[in-house]
Amino acid sequence: MTTDSKCLFCKIISGQIPSRKVYEDEEVFAFHDINPWAPVHFLVIPKAHIPSMAHITEDHTALMGRMMALVPKLALQEGCNPYPEGGYRLVTNTGAEGGQEVRHLHFHIMGGSRPWLRG
Ligand code: 5GP
Ligand code: ZN
Repeated sequence: MTTDSKCLFCKIISGQIPSRKVYEDEEVFAFHDINPWAPVHFLVIPKAHIPSMAHITEDHTALMGRMMALVPKLALQEGCNPYPEGGYRLVTNTGAEGGQEVRHLHFHIMGGSRPWLRG
């Protein structure tokens, strides 16, 4: 599996940098955002170092499907309120103009009762 020893999220996956883990399997890792915008704010990431959505091709179809299928389950597990009164935002910033700061693909899941700090 591709990893980048200088990448912050690769270091979180390896445990070199501690995080509050939400979920882990062979290909996917999820953990709470250190600077939450909402009562619930966690990130779902591939264990492979894929820098962004701009790097996704048809080769990633199964991985992307697995990550998306985890979102509803993890959102409820972490305290997002049920749809439709509750729900959550699923956000992926891509590149400098997309507001991406960490260059390891990640999906933000934000939810919980409003108001939120941002978003
Ligand atoms: P981006 O702006 O790239 O879409 O999102 C990066 C996210 O990673 C931000 O929401 C930021 O708070 C979070 N983040 C940055 N450094 C760390 C860290 O060391 N630990 C955790 N848990 N989250 C981080
Ligand atoms: Zn990485």
